[in-house]
Amino acid sequence: ATMKTATSGKTTCPYCGVGCGVTLTLPCSTNEAVPPVSGDEDHPANFGRLCVKGSSLAQTIQSDDRLLTPMVDGHPVAWESAIETVSAKIAQVVKDHGPDAFAFYLSGQILTEDYYVANKLAKGFIGTANVDTNSRLCMASAVVGYKRAFGSDTVPCNYEDLERCDLLIMVGSNAAWTHPILYQRIAAAKQQRPNMKVVVIDPRETATCDIADLHLAIKPGSDAAIFSFLLSDSVQSGILDDDFIANHTNGFDLALAQANESTLSLSFTADFCAVSEQDLTSLACWWRDTAKTITFYSQGVNQSSSGVDKCNAIINCHLATGRIGKEGAGPFSITGQPNAMGGREVGGLANQLAAHMDFATPGALDLVRRFWQAPNMATENGLKAVDLFQAMEEGKVKVVWIMSTNPMVSLPDTAQVRRALEKCELVIVSDCKAHTDTTAMADVLFPATGWSEKDGTVTNSERRISRQRGLLPAVGDAKHDWWAICEVAKSLGFSAAFSYQNVHEIFAEHAALSTFENNGKRDFDIGHFAQITKAEYDSLIPVQWPVPKGRPEGTKRMFKDGRFFTPDGRARFIAITPSLPKNQASQEWPFTLNTGRVRDQWHTMTRTGDAASLAKHTAQPYVEIHPKDAKRLGIEDKALVRLTSPYGEVLLKAKLSRAVAFANVFAPIHWTQQFANASVVSNLIPQVVDPLSGQPESKHAQVQLEAV
Ligand code: SF4
Repeated sequence: ATMKTATSGKTTCPYCGVGCGVTLTLPCSTNEAVPPVSGDEDHPANFGRLCVKGSSLAQTIQSDDRLLTPMVDGHPVAWESAIETVSAKIAQVVKDHGPDAFAFYLSGQILTEDYYVANKLAKGFIGTANVDTNSRLCMASAVVGYKRAFGSDTVPCNYEDLERCDLLIMVGSNAAWTHPILYQRIAAAKQQRPNMKVVVIDPRETATCDIADLHLAIKPGSDAAIFSFLLSDSVQSGILDDDFIANHTNGFDLALAQANESTLSLSFTADFCAVSEQDLTSLACWWRDTAKTITFYSQGVNQSSSGVDKCNAIINCHLATGRIGKEGAGPFSITGQPNAMGGREVGGLANQLAAHMDFATPGALDLVRRFWQAPNMATENGLKAVDLFQAMEEGKVKVVWIMSTNPMVSLPDTAQVRRALEKCELVIVSDCKAHTDTTAMADVLFPATGWSEKDGTVTNSERRISRQRGLLPAVGDAKHDWWAICEVAKSLGFSAAFSYQNVHEIFAEHAALSTFENNGKRDFDIGHFAQITKAEYDSLIPVQWPVPKGRPEGTKRMFKDGRFFTPDGRARFIAITPSLPKNQASQEWPFTLNTGRVRDQWHTMTRTGDAASLAKHTAQPYVEIHPKDAKRLGIEDKALVRLTSPYGEVLLKAKLSRAVAFANVFAPIHWTQQFANASVVSNLIPQVVDPLSGQPESKHAQVQLEAV
């Protein structure tokens, strides 16, 4: 059909943390000349480009598996009845067992406004800080690393810096597949300026290595040693920025002493990381010679039992050389999810309060209480994701409301997650899909609007706030997540504080809180939007926070003046002792399992699984095995292999590949019971977490392999 009356609207891709702008042409066209989904040429993240996942979004809009009506105990019910069931149970468990018997488990997929009201309801009105999220699996270590160093959770750089640096060190990131548009921008910049160097630090040889001048295939988890070595080497080679260290930082001597003590020499580091001295020397030489250096890091750094220390080892090097707050220089964590950062902004982690304030921030509790006029403020940190599910199994958390995420597939040790949800007295799941591994565990299902139907904001990896827009009507009885939360809040008796008519009102309140009694004390300030009108909100142009009053253009780069958000305004060096992952290979479990993503699927495939064309790239789950290991174990290419860990087992097809080292295997995380029986890779992962961030060590498990 030819579409003559097409109108189009701008929104943001719901997949990765690059946060590309998307133009959706309405109604979705079947005329090939009018692509229903295209890149937004005005959006500064992608300037019109989309990767294959974003380009396929139209295929996911009309799903046969939408959840169309609220369900209680498997029966369709009216919204009023479902809301009443939920609020009555919350009220009862809070009365009988206290507020911490309730928890939210949220998602980097939901919008900032959804996050804001969930956080407000739990922390201000029910009185529990048990509000955690799958962002805990994504960037929690990066957050703590920033806070330790800068006194705030602030990403210093922007995407342009990636194009302008002369040395880009990519650590624990396969951006070619996981953040494709950013990778394409980097590849294009390198093509234009062939002198720009790219180093990839990753145990695996990934597609990202295609543009690398050097690939350091390190021993899994040994990353921090490389940066402790670079810190020591920076001293010896005389490239320290002494003025910056003296005037803008604290703790350098201690951090250096510990780096020297733990990373004695080139040969020690090369041995510890299982790389050649020659390659390490090349990296050190480039580091010495290149002021405009960015260290770009993602899940390979964060998903680790020492993820926070790794982040600080990286940041230490940038502080020591003054390579921060300048064009083309800085430590730059890239978030996995579309709104992992927006969740952080409203306080959507169990150890945060709101607007980048923590429970421990002096005066913050009282400030937020007064702003919200909250009757039941939580007063201390809640439970982080893994602890939260353990508390469910122990019977301490009795009601959980899971929103827009699939923990039955994504959390480590999924057998434990099942036991936890089975033990709960009420499991509420809000989702746009009817059938996921997690909706199967729900007592109450709330049908949620999905991408292209829901309205709100998201923040991408460079602090840029963009609109997602509801351009299509909701299907069936699906409602926005913020609406469902507010209805439950009203039913609990909190009508005045949750009487929002639309998302614009929520965003304005969030902005007002960010600037309330702030006076520049906190990094996250979007006070410019505190009085935003609905029309302005609807036409919001993507902008990088902070956007304080009087600075509508936002902030491209942070820390240009060398002032940080610590009490004395100085950044902090953190003394690090590099350590290896907690569970090391043994005779019983001789293989190290690394996990990750494939190019054309997103997380647990609840959306990308609907796009037939996306299955072409990688149709089935697999495990990459080195050919020599396979030969020794009698495993043929494409044969079925059983992987066993102390926590479970999975069956996967062998893919023989020299991209993995001996005694190492790699498996993607996407497939679920729903898409491929018995291949949920998280079954194998232990619930080992970083002690500071609570982020699971999902990149590392010990397994045994056998041919089936
Ligand atoms: Fe979407 Fe990320 Fe692809 Fe951009 S790079 S189109 S945000 S998946």
